Amino acid sequence: MLVDQLQRPLRNLRLSVTDRCNLRCQYCMPELDYVWLPREDLLHFEEISRLVDVFMSLGVNHIRLTGGEPLLRRDLSTLVDMIAGKEGLNDLALTSNGILLADQIDELKAAGLRRVTVSLDTLRHDRFAKLARFDELTRVRRGIEAAARVFGGVKLDTVVIRGVNDDELVDLIDYGKTVNAEVRFIEYMDVGGATNWSWTDVVSRKDILEQLARHYGGVEEVVEHSSAPADRYRLPDGTVFGIISSTTEPFCASCDRSRLTADGMWYLCLYATRGIDLRAALRAGASIDELKAMIVSGWTARTDRGAESRLALGERRAFVPLSTLKKNPHLEMHTRGG
Ligand code: SAM
Ligand code: SF4
Ligand code: SF4
Repeated sequence: MLVDQLQRPLRNLRLSVTDRCNLRCQYCMPELDYVWLPREDLLHFEEISRLVDVFMSLGVNHIRLTGGEPLLRRDLSTLVDMIAGKEGLNDLALTSNGILLADQIDELKAAGLRRVTVSLDTLRHDRFAKLARFDELTRVRRGIEAAARVFGGVKLDTVVIRGVNDDELVDLIDYGKTVNAEVRFIEYMDVGGATNWSWTDVVSRKDILEQLARHYGGVEEVVEHSSAPADRYRLPDGTVFGIISSTTEPFCASCDRSRLTADGMWYLCLYATRGIDLRAALRAGASIDELKAMIVSGWTARTDRGAESRLALGERRAFVPLSTLKKNPHLEMHTRGG
């Protein structure tokens, strides 16, 4: 098994299929203008599939399609179909903002998609518009409900921001119950793109648990052995929810994930400032063995603990200043795939 310097295996690959998005979430894309990846640089499906084969030959067996908004990539189900049948793949999931989900869910499922996570930060129309620039709540809810129906359940990811949506945790859990969705609360991270981030906006796992325990009369931890980033909890009525405490209690020690951008840059950490250019190698005619060698040498040298290093700084500002971000779209969360 291929492991990095901290004995972490190469297992999870987050595959960004586009850097474009049809929302502008304040915690991810707060600016007015963006520099997009040149279209000719985007990997074709055959190129993605070839790279997936190489990654899988080195241990990757969980793949999540992301973006930007992955459902904006034309014919996404064709790519799903190309990946889903690969031998040894244990999981093929999708993270989406849900807007286009109801229209595409049947063909995605038929192509072999196994799970869906939808991002949902608020159930209020005015807040949705303020937080994401456009009020698409109705379409998102329709998408969530369609995905839950087709897959027998769905996960909802909620970035919790102080003074923005931290009074909706109970409402979101209660909504989840009605549509067979498990909610996961994510601590606000100071990733590239989150140029307005500040410590005071972060609602910690501890705060979330206290609030929910007060309301529901108790919260119990679900004991399970998994490398998934979410810790899961159970309410007295049996409802399960998750918390991803990536800011206050990061899980770098067991991090087995890396990210491939839509233009074929491979990043070994969400906070990495440099990636490995697999597109250039692929388009220069690199053989499978040469691509493998690039991935092996990248992963075996990996020491990244981005979120832990940021936490150790104590008081801090947003990770990437706006001026730097404008020059390098690869630092953006919507390019890197979240
Ligand atoms: N557009 C899709 C969506 O929103 O689900 C997929 C891409 S998005 C970059 C992936 C995930 O990153 C979303 O769940 C989003 O909430 C999360 N995300 C983006 N910026 C974040 C931040 N500053 N802190 C925590 N999570 C963030
Ligand atoms: Fe929001 Fe996802 Fe688009 Fe970022 S990529 S702006 S999180 S919908
Ligand atoms: Fe993994 Fe980097 Fe995130 Fe830590 S910060 S969990 S090493 S991707």
